[in-house]
Amino acid sequence: MTQETGGFAALDLNPNIVAAVLATGYEEPSAIQQQSIPIILAGHDMIGQAQTGTGKTAAFALPILNKIDVSKREPQALILAPTRELALQVATAFETYAKQMPGVNVVAVYGGAPMGPQLRAIRNGAQIVVATPGRLCDHLRRDEKVLSTVQYLVLDEADEMLKLGFMDDLEVIFDAIPATRQTVLFSATLPSSIRSIAERHLREPKHVKIQSKTQTVTAIDQAHLMVHADQKIPAVLRLLEVEEFDALIAFVRTKQATLDLAAALEAKGYKAAALNGDIAQNQRERVIESLKDGRLDIVVATDVAARGLDVPRITHVFNVDMPYDPESYVHRIGRTGRAGRDGRALLLVTPRERRMLQVIERVTGQKVAEARLPNAQAVLDARIKKLTSSLAPLVAEAEATHGELFDRLTADLGCSARALASALLRKATNGQALDLAAVEREQPLVPGVGAPRGERTERSDRGERSDRGDRGDRERRAPLPLAEGRVRCRTALGARDGIAAKNLLGAILNEGGLARDAIGRIQVRDSFSLVELPEDGLEKLLTKLKDTRVAGKQLKLRRYRED
Ligand code: ADP
Ligand code: MG
Repeated sequence: MTQETGGFAALDLNPNIVAAVLATGYEEPSAIQQQSIPIILAGHDMIGQAQTGTGKTAAFALPILNKIDVSKREPQALILAPTRELALQVATAFETYAKQMPGVNVVAVYGGAPMGPQLRAIRNGAQIVVATPGRLCDHLRRDEKVLSTVQYLVLDEADEMLKLGFMDDLEVIFDAIPATRQTVLFSATLPSSIRSIAERHLREPKHVKIQSKTQTVTAIDQAHLMVHADQKIPAVLRLLEVEEFDALIAFVRTKQATLDLAAALEAKGYKAAALNGDIAQNQRERVIESLKDGRLDIVVATDVAARGLDVPRITHVFNVDMPYDPESYVHRIGRTGRAGRDGRALLLVTPRERRMLQVIERVTGQKVAEARLPNAQAVLDARIKKLTSSLAPLVAEAEATHGELFDRLTADLGCSARALASALLRKATNGQALDLAAVEREQPLVPGVGAPRGERTERSDRGERSDRGDRGDRERRAPLPLAEGRVRCRTALGARDGIAAKNLLGAILNEGGLARDAIGRIQVRDSFSLVELPEDGLEKLLTKLKDTRVAGKQLKLRRYRED
């Protein structure tokens, strides 16, 4: 064992930086930090290759803070990150590590927010600029000198930046920074495109490679389930009944899929929201904050929108749609098991995706065991367990407050204690299925889902293709069958208006005065949304909702005729 202050104190960093780092609870530098910090401090260019969760941010942030001249109020360090979320996260990390260095100013520069305040913040003396390449180029077009004082350049997640098509922007940015700069590049992978950038723009770079990706992956319990593409949402709903999670992130491939799954989860009473590239920036930040502080428990995200997202509460990652490559699989599941915590990752695999599963297993060097969907008995057991634990604290004290009432009710009703308790249970559980036959009726086992491999038929392949359709296709799709007594209503507000299912649900619950289970499925499409409402009393309800506004716009809900 090294001494307590060992690691960080031995790194030749300014004591104010070390103190701030220790105050955040870090004890030892991670491997990438241990190796990169001395190289960057010594002024070398560097290429760092390491997986998600290895601590790359501090690996460049700490030595850069050490080098900043706080008395000079001009941009000295530029960090490029692929997405707004990641840029914000890196900027926040810098602020944390600089807590005991008065005079350090950090500005985050990204699209989706007004340019003026960003430019003013840069000119007003920010020494550290954290930016996405696209927006930074917009600034360069307004002021080509804005980066002329930069001495340190970091490319964070360089492979992602190239995947997102930022190659040309990077070239423009390289040209706008003095050639005497020090350049550091971090990337999880080093494809030839990255190596070629390094050859052209870095000077005799030192290489640091951290291969211990097992470090992040071992704390995570991984499993996969075979499902048909059109059965993913029911499969997720069933898994959620039995998984004991704190916060969960579900990954899907398309924006539409984030909305569909989030709406299905909300309809079941989960605190869920979608996170995708179409959602306005301030709304996205709110979603992440809500997940952090427990106002949300589930976020359904695309890879790009969830990039770098770091929420310690996340215990589960559901890969509802297959990632595009093994690297993104590792990135995704790295969202859980943060900072050494245990995590669980589930991967839904459709019959045609089996080969990708094998590739993932080969690249990560780990077997991803096959799990089965919980059967009705397991769902029932989980529900009863939840009911039991919700009642446990009441059993200890409710008799004192409600015991007399109970006696009076059994007397008035002339019934047994068991009969009254049963009636109260039915009322309290609100129609939830709590016996085996009822759970089985509610969750009929879909043929093929969770069945052994041999039982799968061609049907699955067709189902999957319909899932691949573009948005136009999906919008034209046949409407879903309606439950008895429900009708569909339509509003012209949709995802493009910044609407999520929960906004609609909230507005209708609040202003319509309906019980939550009176509202059926909510489908948010790009340019409109559909809500299932009770036919009984519909006219009255629509009148009540006449002036309701959602996201600042009139809801104007109308009955939707399907024919
Ligand atoms: P990467 O960029 O490699 O994915 P991050 O820099 O985002 O990783 O760090 C991942 C998580 O680990 C963050 O929550 C960060 O606060 C934490 N972390 C980083 N370095 C240390 C350390 N030395 N000790 C403990 N936690 C750390
Ligand atoms: Mg990072």
